[in-house]
Amino acid sequence: MVSIVTIPACGDNFIYLYRYDKKNALAIDPCNSSAVLNSLNEHNLNLTTILITHHHWDHTGGVSELKKKTGCEVIGADKRRIPSIDRVVDDKHVLAIGNIEIQVIATPGHTNTSVCYYIPASNDKQKILWTGDTMFVGGCGRIMECNAQTMFDSLLRLASLPDDTLVYCGHDYTVENYEFALTIEPDNKATQKRMQEIKQTLRAGGYTVPSIILQEKTTNIFLRSDTNEIKTALNMPNAGAVDVFAELRRRKDVF
Ligand SMILES: [Zn+2]
Repeated sequence: MVSIVTIPACGDNFIYLYRYDKKNALAIDPCNSSAVLNSLNEHNLNLTTILITHHHWDHTGGVSELKKKTGCEVIGADKRRIPSIDRVVDDKHVLAIGNIEIQVIATPGHTNTSVCYYIPASNDKQKILWTGDTMFVGGCGRIMECNAQTMFDSLLRLASLPDDTLVYCGHDYTVENYEFALTIEPDNKATQKRMQEIKQTLRAGGYTVPSIILQEKTTNIFLRSDTNEIKTALNMPNAGAVDVFAELRRRKDVF
């Protein structure tokens, strides 16, 4: 039984369905209602809950229609900007859905009300993290409503989760992220190898999600802002990690 269904939608977004018992599922960041309804139908699932990581339209576009069609509950952290929201959550809030426990992790940076959702133990004993536009595979979201320090702290908080946590992010920017990393460190063997693996996965028709936290800690360039390798590559030998992170993010913004 597949517990997570990945639904590519709205260009480069990923919507996820998480089946938490035999018949019922929750959806994460549904930008589009029909893609979700089709997938629910295909897998014979009811939608009980929608979890929203942040208010942007490409994460919430399908919410109102799905709520109308299914009567599901809409959960998120921004009462004012998430459409049709029913329940407002904040950092360290623990949601009980079926017999699954989901922890809310506040990760301001991309927006000031961004959150991630973490399942420490799913039914099949996996650790699962939905990161929205905070952490991507090999990258991170744009800093839009906070400063670099805040975004970096949020990323470090996610990076402190167990190494084997599965990472499901909000967009497929994976190839572009590793292409960017290779402009900074063209000779980084781990990044080159990772790029080969990603391309192979895509050629085989797979998705670049999930990653795992360990993979991100070792090959996500933004999480390596405190390393001498990156400081040297940027010619910032004496800079602090946040300044290095801000410089990487500034370069990525115009990449
Ligand atoms: Zn966004």
